[in-house]
Amino acid sequence: MPINVDVAIVGAGPAGLCFAKSLADAGLKTLILERQAETSISAPDFDGREIALTHYSAQLMQELGLWARIDANEISPLRDARIFNGSSLHSLNINHRDTPQGELGYLISNHLIRKAAYDAAKSSSMITIKSEVQITSIKTSANSVELTLDNSESIQTKLLVGADSRFSETRRAMGIAADMHDFGKVMMVCVMDHPVSHEHAAWEWFDYGQTLALLPMNGMRSSVVVTLPKQDIDRLMKMQEEDFNREISARFQHRLGQMHLTSTRHAYPLITVYSKRLIGPRFALVGDAAVGMHPVTAHGFNFGLKGIATLSTEIKAALAANKDIAAESLLMRYEQAHRRHTRPLYLATHAIAKLYGNDSHTARLLRSSALRLGSRISPFKRAVAGLLA
Ligand SMILES: Cc1cc2nc3c(=O)[nH]c(=O)nc-3n(C[C@H](O)[C@H](O)[C@H](O)COP(=O)(O)OP(=O)(O)OC[C@H]3O[C@@H](n4cnc5c(N)ncnc54)[C@H](O)[C@@H]3O)c2cc1C
Repeated sequence: MPINVDVAIVGAGPAGLCFAKSLADAGLKTLILERQAETSISAPDFDGREIALTHYSAQLMQELGLWARIDANEISPLRDARIFNGSSLHSLNINHRDTPQGELGYLISNHLIRKAAYDAAKSSSMITIKSEVQITSIKTSANSVELTLDNSESIQTKLLVGADSRFSETRRAMGIAADMHDFGKVMMVCVMDHPVSHEHAAWEWFDYGQTLALLPMNGMRSSVVVTLPKQDIDRLMKMQEEDFNREISARFQHRLGQMHLTSTRHAYPLITVYSKRLIGPRFALVGDAAVGMHPVTAHGFNFGLKGIATLSTEIKAALAANKDIAAESLLMRYEQAHRRHTRPLYLATHAIAKLYGNDSHTARLLRSSALRLGSRISPFKRAVAGLLA
């Protein structure tokens, strides 16, 4: 006998867990299928990612019961943002006074978000998590989807959701293509302390030959992000701690004084993904499986939460009207809305990453004039601040 559920979600990452919680709160029986062991999702290790969250995401995390599970000392306010170009000390400043909330957003470690999402999901009797399993076959009919797992169990569901990362195998199994772009660079992330205060400002520094970012954490420490070709990141990852501290302080031109590593180092290849379709018959993609952003504009999980809110609002409305929760028209509305919310910033982020990753003479001229122009136009700055908020 197959296990019967309303919704089956592939992937117990932050997107899959949050989506399950949102549906469970509406009374839907939800099953999450995860290929990793339960211990790696119940107590995830630090993975180097510090996630910048908008006010809207913070509100959704409160509604889903994640926010209260995170120690308030681990939530760092993000007041201002400074964008530097080349060796210039001049920066485009996005000020917290440009937002109604008085802060641009918040910063929380990814492993703490994942743990809070797992604990919130586990607190619901409507959610079951099956770990160390993979789907071996998917059969869609007019009224349901039948899944077979590698342990021979079968599942019957009204809606199947892929939340299994930007390299989603469920997306591929459903025959959905995706645009992928490999920037040919790798991003290294770690936490460092420093004697000069960050004043709770995030830095994005498009230097020549490297891109640096600094995300301000509570206390005199920051998440440091260095983007370089793979062989340079490999060297930084293996470097002795004292040499590493010296090299990173120099790369930041000692603007924060002598910096010291206080965490493990993690590397992520820069590959972005935009799925050609976000839906199929009784199927939808959420999180990075739908839109895998370039981290430079810090919108990946923010978009993940936005998509979850859009799709679950549609599903809750169908439920209230006693209609099919996986109707084609419902899924189409989700796809259109989520593309509208994400596509412009996805394309703009690509353009920024390509221009500011290019050191040719023409690009250097364009880079500095674009930044100077942006810093003089206050509606532009307010628009950026609004996007962040
Ligand atoms: C360096 C870095 C910095 C970032 N900074 C920010 C930021 O500041 N702000 C922001 O909003 N976003 C940021 N992001 C993006 C954010 O981390 C992601 O958007 C988010 O983690 C994606 O969550 P997800 O659940 O969609 O996918 P994932 O976290 O990738 O989870 C996918 C889950 O699916 C499971 N899975 C995969 N395949 C299968 C399968 N076949 N069967 C079963 N299970 C499977 C995996 O084991 C995993 O548990 C950053 C990303 C990086 C790399």
